[in-house]
Amino acid sequence: MAALHPSIPREVTDFLTAHKTYYLAAHLEPDGDCLAAALGLGMFLNRAHGKFVRYFDAGPFDRREIQHLARQFEGRLDPATRAEDPDPAVVVVDCSGPDRVGPVAEDLVGLPTLVIDHHATGEPFGDVQFVDTSAAATCYLIQLIIEEMGETPTQEEAEILLFGIATDTGYFRHTEARAAGLFAAVSRLLLAGASPKLAHQQMFGGYKLASRFLLARLINRAQVLEDGAAIVTWETLSDVEEFGRGSRDSDTLYELLFAVDGVRMIGLIREEPDGKCAGSLRSIDTIDVSKVALVFGGGGHRRAAGFTISGQVDAIRDQVVDEFLSALKRSSNP
Ligand code: 5GP
Ligand code: MN
Repeated sequence: MAALHPSIPREVTDFLTAHKTYYLAAHLEPDGDCLAAALGLGMFLNRAHGKFVRYFDAGPFDRREIQHLARQFEGRLDPATRAEDPDPAVVVVDCSGPDRVGPVAEDLVGLPTLVIDHHATGEPFGDVQFVDTSAAATCYLIQLIIEEMGETPTQEEAEILLFGIATDTGYFRHTEARAAGLFAAVSRLLLAGASPKLAHQQMFGGYKLASRFLLARLINRAQVLEDGAAIVTWETLSDVEEFGRGSRDSDTLYELLFAVDGVRMIGLIREEPDGKCAGSLRSIDTIDVSKVALVFGGGGHRRAAGFTISGQVDAIRDQVVDEFLSALKRSSNP
């Protein structure tokens, strides 16, 4: 029988006991999984091993569901602090490449670095790498590391890890057959006191009614390709001004659009300040949207990928439409 869980390399647990201070760094434009992975591991290292920890993320902390975590993260590490911290080492979580760490990477140069990740695209970096692309969330790997080190997460750690797993799996909607290991791990988080209801509320609750109007706008303007095989929509800065920044609820948008019969891919292009656009791409079947994201200088997973690029929102949308049409054509004539 195949192992229920990925095994944890010895170098990973050795790394996490060898040093006195750990700098936990998560990715730019953070999501629940990366922040929860940093916090879950940091809380554990501090509690169980007496390690001194600091958390780094340059933000922006735009997603509504992570705003309560933002204040624990610093954007940069100043050299005087680094010089005073005893025996520091770095753990980078959920980052597919060094560029994803952002400007704090410059402050961490020269320190021993462990990378814990689950992305399919990217370039290897760091002194010790633990990248498992089969893992549904980096938080799942963090839980397995804690357990490998002979401990059970506390209720607080279990809650944060469940939140991270829930966000990266779309509250388990994207998990498929052979997810028994993940659900067994989640069951242990529940035994430790985590609440699925609380995780759901953290992910999906707390919006204003305006957020539903923004969803309606994005759905109304959606561009439908190839009889509904792909749907592309976009959000402008004036939408953000009209409905409020806290109104964005991309996960619900994907859920509503993936309910449409025959849809295979969804693209959401968001106009950002400074002439940039961010793209979020989602796939429901065999089409690999990380390859589409790569065309725009981004990356991610087969079924969830993204990018940030300079350009006008209309132009980027048209390019995404073209790339989606090509991907659909390739998948029908492989
Ligand atoms: P989202 O659409 O939720 O922003 O991102 C979906 C996935 O794509 C995440 O796993 C995220 O790590 C990845 N991703 C988003 N933006 C970028 C990017 O600019 N570069 C890379 N390499 N990955 C990205
Ligand atoms: Mn992740």
